[in-house]
Amino acid sequence: MNKKKAIILDRDGTLIEDKNYAYKLEDFELLDGVIDGLKLLQNDFLFFIVTNQSGIGRGFYSIKDFQKFNNHLINVLKTQNIEIVKTYFCPHVKEDECKCRKPKTKFIDEIIKEFNIDIKKSWMIGDHPSDIQFGINAGCRTIFLTTGHGFEHLDDLKSLGIEPTIIQENFLKAVKDILEFP
Ligand SMILES: [Mg+2]
Ligand SMILES: [Zn+2]
Repeated sequence: MNKKKAIILDRDGTLIEDKNYAYKLEDFELLDGVIDGLKLLQNDFLFFIVTNQSGIGRGFYSIKDFQKFNNHLINVLKTQNIEIVKTYFCPHVKEDECKCRKPKTKFIDEIIKEFNIDIKKSWMIGDHPSDIQFGINAGCRTIFLTTGHGFEHLDDLKSLGIEPTIIQENFLKAVKDILEFP
């Protein structure tokens, strides 16, 4: 069976506006170009969300709150005929030293195995250096978006020596780069 390609998506600051530990539906706001971009990719790629949700570990909101908010995103995309195959979330804080918080690769390793993914031809898209490090650790291509927290972290990329495949200013432009990538 042929291996499939994946787009692994950060959530906050990548798909939706990053409103710092958002979990209330009233704070839900899809970012520009996300629907159009995902539609352009959906024939060639499977979509997954991998998100660090330390707001759970910090007690700002519960797993149930997270799921309700995340299901809203999944359903909004579904009404546009876009399927997110699965969402993976880390509920821990950094100090927990868990195995699932990006840039640790537990979730991406699971995705590769369970869905028979060709990781070298897959992409991680995110707005934080840890997203890029996560993609690099897993062996896929990476796009750093300057949406969300991205712009503030541009200097960190350099100082940490993390080199994304592409840096782009919004989701739709990132998608066009993916489609044109050799
Ligand atoms: Mg983010
Ligand atoms: Zn974790």
